[in-house]
Amino acid sequence: MRPTGLILQAMTEAHRPIPFDNSYARLPGTMHVGVDPTPVSAPRLIKMNEPLARELGIDPAALDAEVAVGNAIPAGASPLAQAYAGHQFGNFVPQLGDGRAILLGEVVDVNGRRRDIQLKGPGRTPFSRGGDGRAALGPVLREYLVSEAMNALGIPTTRALMAATTGERVYRDAVLPGAVLTRVAASHIRVGTFQFFAVRKDFESLRLLIDHVIARHYPDLKGVENPALALLDAVMDAQASLVSRWAQVGFIHGVMNTDNSSVSGETIDYGPCAFMDAYDPGTVFSSIDTYGRYAYANQAPIAQWNLARLAETLLAFLNENREEAIRIATERVEAFPAIYTKHWLAGFRRKIGLASEEDGDLDLIQSMLDAMQMARADFTVTFRTLSNDEEPEALKHWLPAWRERLVRDPQTTEERRVLMRSVNPAYIPRNYLVEEIITAAVEDQDYAPFEAMLRVLMNPYGEQVGAERYGALPPENETGYRTFCGT
Ligand code: AMP
Ligand code: MG
Repeated sequence: MRPTGLILQAMTEAHRPIPFDNSYARLPGTMHVGVDPTPVSAPRLIKMNEPLARELGIDPAALDAEVAVGNAIPAGASPLAQAYAGHQFGNFVPQLGDGRAILLGEVVDVNGRRRDIQLKGPGRTPFSRGGDGRAALGPVLREYLVSEAMNALGIPTTRALMAATTGERVYRDAVLPGAVLTRVAASHIRVGTFQFFAVRKDFESLRLLIDHVIARHYPDLKGVENPALALLDAVMDAQASLVSRWAQVGFIHGVMNTDNSSVSGETIDYGPCAFMDAYDPGTVFSSIDTYGRYAYANQAPIAQWNLARLAETLLAFLNENREEAIRIATERVEAFPAIYTKHWLAGFRRKIGLASEEDGDLDLIQSMLDAMQMARADFTVTFRTLSNDEEPEALKHWLPAWRERLVRDPQTTEERRVLMRSVNPAYIPRNYLVEEIITAAVEDQDYAPFEAMLRVLMNPYGEQVGAERYGALPPENETGYRTFCGT
């Protein structure tokens, strides 16, 4: 699998070192396959995230177009493709794996957090099946922009370190410019990673995976009596928190398959994702989500479904008696709606400016959302308008109940305003604007719109002069927006 290894090693000499420490590569060979990127003809760096590089403890000088496309492998990297399985739209596929992604390795960042550095689109791997292992420029730019926007919104997510074009074409429905995204994640371990070993009854690998995930993502759990159970609870809480955060900004992931569900609780795999404009819980954007399985309002039930799949993989570790293990797992997974509601309610309380808690708050928030749905009010603009002490038309029948509730909240008007403005963004990556920046890049090699939009989205909670367009309502004809998978 390493036909180009020698040449690549020689090319790395010129680069400044990246302080790799590759813990996943040290796990058994059942979990991954070593594979080098396939070199490309004419790499060009589109974007480098220098603040992120520094956060990772990487000198930006160590990064360039050759590294970004995989033509040069930095010293200390151990390129590999990870094995995983997954339920795709409810159907189990026992072997997926990194078909168009190669993990270069891990670094421990300046805050002591271990982070994966992965190339997405660097060529075929043993898991590529019929695919070309490549990515197209449009989806790479979308992932760069949206993942960085999510991070700026304060939502756990994979990050974007570099985007580069390859100089080669990829063949999808159309012929498109090829590109590679350098993605950074707490890890790329998914619910589907556990499923890969469970379906093979490889309990030794599963045990090592449990230990690895606890050490890496939930170190406080080290030494607990039942690590698998503690891990299940921890992943449930992380997923409940994450998916409630999505709900709070109108984010629709679009393809919440178990292989796109990270055990660290980060948002991962920005394919057909999109942000809701008019509030409607049934909103679906993905062209391949025919039945609305991953609609806005289904995201919490689907997260629970995915966690049930995780629980199944852990049964042998929950209790030696299988029936008892199933009973324990069922009880835990059934607690998910309550855990989710706790996170959701805490978030939406802040969105309507409450620092105190009352029993009627959930109903108050729900009646607001109902009014927004009736009026087809824009989700982002409505909450932001309310935060700026203006009265959204759609809420005129709801506002008296809110004002009455605020009387019993301890904050001053100014404190409430600050709170609301810190959780209700002025700017989200509007779908039609994302399309615009992609079109400019793909058709005209014009990256200025991408840069301009990225700059605005880096500060989503403060109005910026000249950025009105990014915070405005979308054009009326934007209904029926569709996203496509095939990154
Ligand atoms: P996704 O739905 O994008 O998360 O991808 C599902 C699976 O298909 C993963 O195993 C991917 O690695 C694989 N895959 C998607 N696109 C390609 C491609 N162009 N070449 C090879 N594998 C791919
Ligand atoms: Mg995926």
